[in-house]
Amino acid sequence: MDCVVIGAGVSGLSSAIRLLEAGHNVRVLAREFSPDLVSDVAAALWYPFLAHPIEKTDRWGAETYTELMRLGEEEPMSGITMRFGREYLREVVELPGWRKDITHFRVLESGEIPEGWIFGWEFESPIIEMYHYMPWLLQRTRDLGGIIEENEVEDLAEISAEVIVNCSGIGARELCQDTEVKPVRGQIIYINQDPGFGRFDQQPETLTYTIARRDCTVLGGTAQSDDWSLELRDSDRETILQKCEAVWPELDRSKIIGESVGLRPSRSEVRLESEKINDTLIIHNYGHGGAGVTLSWGCADEVVSLIEESYE
Ligand SMILES: Cc1cc2nc3c(=O)[nH]c(=O)nc-3n(C[C@H](O)[C@H](O)[C@H](O)COP(=O)(O)OP(=O)(O)OC[C@H]3O[C@@H](n4cnc5c(N)ncnc54)[C@H](O)[C@@H]3O)c2cc1C
Repeated sequence: MDCVVIGAGVSGLSSAIRLLEAGHNVRVLAREFSPDLVSDVAAALWYPFLAHPIEKTDRWGAETYTELMRLGEEEPMSGITMRFGREYLREVVELPGWRKDITHFRVLESGEIPEGWIFGWEFESPIIEMYHYMPWLLQRTRDLGGIIEENEVEDLAEISAEVIVNCSGIGARELCQDTEVKPVRGQIIYINQDPGFGRFDQQPETLTYTIARRDCTVLGGTAQSDDWSLELRDSDRETILQKCEAVWPELDRSKIIGESVGLRPSRSEVRLESEKINDTLIIHNYGHGGAGVTLSWGCADEVVSLIEESYE
């Protein structure tokens, strides 16, 4: 089939790759490209965060975990490594459904939990270095024969294709008049220091993370709903540092090397469904919130399945 993918973020490129692998012709149209996307700002840890519905995100997340781990082993240029991390919680909660789908998960002993938290778990998860991963995704798309074009789409009806895959992220607000898509602003800090294992408190109100890449650690975070500002804020920087110091007292502020900010394309639920406009099949794949990387391959596989089902 002739497919047009709108968007060259992690959702668009993963979908493009799966479509090409399934034998479709693919043209990717995007207004902006890496390194200017929220996909480039992603920290990026595999961890289902700020994305719903859970029944689906658990499945998409599990499929993506397996694929990211495979890429880490077989494609060194993709920039994926496996790391241990510890999630700390301020209350005892039900264990996440995805725990059975990952390589390592255990509940922490009380002596392993810092003061101020009462519960937690240790997990192993892929860390995706987006400054390697985004170029790798683009190259893989091209290597498979995908065509990539800079182009702003104003109306889905203007595109001539058998299938349109809409991966426009926050752009879906205008493109589909979907006011349910809202920004959740995230500011991060890069530090040239390794925490050994990652330390996390991933409740939106207290969001704290130390994500160790091979060459630096990403400190976060903020999750400010409906906040469109891409300016770095001193107050956010200070809050992030204080939160990270609470879980990582050895943090050395003199080793900070940079910072960034991005807008997560949040929605009450990820929109992954098909519709028909005239004779064109549209598959929407946007609204992944804080888990666009975590869900990317599971969602891309479902994009291909939805197309196959429609033409059965
Ligand atoms: C600080 C921070 C940390 C994060 N950490 C993580 C993490 O650890 N793990 C994780 O899984 N996720 C994380 N995320 C979330 C992740 O970044 C997003 O969920 C993901 O990048 C969304 O990808 P996307 O491809 O849907 O959107 P985008 O990357 O925004 O791509 C959208 C694409 O659509 C194009 N587009 C939009 N409108 C149009 C139009 N009208 N015409 C043509 N093109 C259009 C854009 O130009 C762009 O190419 C984080 C986000 C932030 C801000």
